[in-house]
Order: sequence, then C-alpha cells, then structure tokens
Amino acid sequence: MTDLLSLTPDAARAAVAPWLAARSEPAYRGSQIVARLWQRPVASWEEATELPTALRRALAEAFPLRRLRLVTRQLSRDGTEKFLWQLEDGEAIESVLIPEGKRRTLCISSQVGCALGCVFCATGRMGFRRNLAPAEIAGQVRELLLSPAGQAPTNVVFMGMGEPLLNWEAVDASLTILNHPDGFGIGARHITVSTVGILANLAKLARRPEQFRLALSLHAPTSALRLALMPIEKKYALPDVVQALQQFRRRVTLEYVLIGGRNDDLETADHLAGLAKPLGALVNLLPLHPGGAPDLTPSSRRRMLEFERRLRSRGVEAVLRRSRGLDISAACGQLRVELEPRRKVRAEEHARVE
Ligand code: SF4
Repeated sequence: MTDLLSLTPDAARAAVAPWLAARSEPAYRGSQIVARLWQRPVASWEEATELPTALRRALAEAFPLRRLRLVTRQLSRDGTEKFLWQLEDGEAIESVLIPEGKRRTLCISSQVGCALGCVFCATGRMGFRRNLAPAEIAGQVRELLLSPAGQAPTNVVFMGMGEPLLNWEAVDASLTILNHPDGFGIGARHITVSTVGILANLAKLARRPEQFRLALSLHAPTSALRLALMPIEKKYALPDVVQALQQFRRRVTLEYVLIGGRNDDLETADHLAGLAKPLGALVNLLPLHPGGAPDLTPSSRRRMLEFERRLRSRGVEAVLRRSRGLDISAACGQLRVELEPRRKVRAEEHARVE
C-alpha cells in the first residue's frame, strides 16, 4: 500500500494518476485527492465528501491515511502546548506549540529518540529508537490542523526529538510537504532546520533552492569544550562545521544552552563572539531545561544577562530566550522520558489531559 502522506505533493499526484486511470476516473480527481492530504486535510477518506462514495471506499483500501494518535496534550501557564503522539508501532514522539504574538511556532520531532547523546538533552539520554517517516514528521502539522481548534502553525522548527540531518531523506521530503503550495504552504523562511552539523547532509540542505533557515546547535565555541558536551564533536569537528556554514547564503542562527559553570564564563563568551561575528550569525541563548545529565545546573539569571551583554559588546546580535513551558517539561524528549518507565500503564493517567 502506498503511503501518500510520505510522498511530496507532486509524487502523490503521480502515484494516484495511474490508479485513477485504471478505474476510469477523470484526471481532476487527482488534484481533489491531493488537496485532502495537507491543504484541507481529512481524518479519513470518508470525510472527503466531494468524492463519490465508491471512490472514497476504494481510496481507504488503496491509500489508507496514516494518523498519529494523540496521547496527551498539556497546556502550560505561558500558553505553550505540548503534544505526545503515539505512532502505529507504539513508539511515541512529541511536538510543542509556542504562541508568541501573531506567531504560532510548532517544534516538531524527526526521530524517535536520538543517537547523539548531548549531555544536556533529555532525548539524548533516551537513545535512538528509529527514524520517522515523512507522514510522521509532516503529520505533526497535519494532526494539529485536524484537532478541534484546527489552527495551522505560522512557523515550524525541527527542534524536537532527534537530529533531522541524520534522517535526511524523510526530512527532505517533509520540507517539501511543509513548503509546497499543494502541501501546507508554509514559507521557507518560516521553516528552520536545527542541526548539530552532519556535514554531508548539511551540504544537501544548502543545495536546496528554497530559503529554509538553519540553526546550528553549537553550545560550545571551542572543540575541547564541545567534546565535553556533545560527543558528535569527535566525528564532525567544530572548525569543519563552521566552515560548512559558509555554504548557506543566508543568516544562520547559533543555538547556545547556558549551563552553570560549564560554558557560561565570560572568556567563553569572547570565544563565542569570535566565532559568531565573522559568520554574521544571530546567537540564541537558551536557559538549560531539566532532563539532561543530573549534575548539570542552569546558569544564574545574572550570569545569563552578563553573557548576553558580553556578546553584544563584541558586536554580536544575541538574544536571551525565555524558558517556555517549563511547568510541562517542554524541552525535547522530556514528556516522552517521563512516560517511559510507565508505558504499561495508560499514559493518559500520568499527565493533565486538555
Ligand atoms: S540536543 Fe539534539 S542532537 Fe543532541 S541529543 Fe538532543 S536531540 Fe540529539
């Protein structure tokens, strides 16, 4: 059976065309069908009432629509919403919706777990389970549209569970689905891929003609410090990753989690400025969320502000981000990790369900 939701809109149209022809259906049905995948999504083909009943039944057999089952939906005091989805094989992933003024940013997952083991990350502690299919990646947006409130996100960031560039083929197709006018039609500049810097696939992302945004999970401005926080440094050394950023003819964001006593002294801020300035990069400073290695503590508020000021005094644009959704553990992998030891019990019993 073909999973239409894992194909790009053009490929989905091409997949249904011969099937429609074999049933002597008019070709325009192809566009009607594709429109129901992402533009005006349906939970099941039964709901696509513009199609004849017999065709809907045949579609359900030939091209079943893959769904993500909502296990919990938690609402934070600051308006952040967190979704835990169960996949067909019982695995679970998360998305986080962050409203900010007119913006509604959805943070999506690209893998179940993650193999990279960054010490400050809850998902990293979980280890790698499997890659997600495009239907499961773009499906996180689709399910949001299908939910009762049904509002589309204005922005999408690949900052949930997993390293997107280690699941390149599925992420590549998902980027097209998110951006294509016959997909969700979200502008490329409103879609951000966040990566630790997987070099070969970074080059593939850079070659795409759309202006997708790139965020580098940096967290340390020197190789020695990065190695202590992010084992990937052994494979892709910082100087090579920074060099690879030059391929992007657009502004890059550097993500930097401030960890008390580990990467938050002002000398380190100077190193970071030395790296960020020639790139013309924006530095996003993020407070540490709980869930990583137990011996890590967040930087003090005072130190975070000093660090931000130091970067600015060196001519770097830096923004200290607020922690969002702390009361619902809205850092990547946290809800999933919380549920992990209790999977035999109904997950709904363990979280406030909206
Ligand atoms: S920070 Fe990203 S790359 Fe590192 S372990 Fe977590 S999910 Fe993986």
